[in-house]
Amino acid sequence: MNNLEKKIVYVDMDFTLCDFGASYLQYKQLHPEEAFPHSVPGFFIGLAPTLGAIETFQWLNEKQDIDLYILTAPSIRNPHSYTEKRLWVEKHLGLEAAYKLIISPNKGLNKGHYLIDDYTEGKGQENFEGKILQFGSKEFPDWKSVQSFFERGY
Ligand SMILES: [Mg+2]
Repeated sequence: MNNLEKKIVYVDMDFTLCDFGASYLQYKQLHPEEAFPHSVPGFFIGLAPTLGAIETFQWLNEKQDIDLYILTAPSIRNPHSYTEKRLWVEKHLGLEAAYKLIISPNKGLNKGHYLIDDYTEGKGQENFEGKILQFGSKEFPDWKSVQSFFERGY
């Protein structure tokens, strides 16, 4: 299949592929004095995947008619986040997935059909031309529901 005929799907990292919330709370308990855990080197690479994230990502990635990317905004004040996001992808999804990693402060600039993201605005999501599947919403509370959506057709 021609690449241009494929559906382009973007997947967010924080709170979508990565369980940012759980790690944040855990870090706060261990280091209550730290005001910005997400600015500490090592924070991003230590994030656990959300339940089912890896499996559904790989499932989507194997579909011949989907061109899958990771689209994440950087944590600007934590320059380590750029490197650690790239390392996280390789650690949990494999080196091949790192070729599909896009770190951008404005997600609205990306062309595509679907964006799986816990936010519908703030980092350009409001200008995304495709459909946003809001991860964590009532319609898409988890990765199982995201997979069901794509199983029904897209
Ligand atoms: Mg997010």
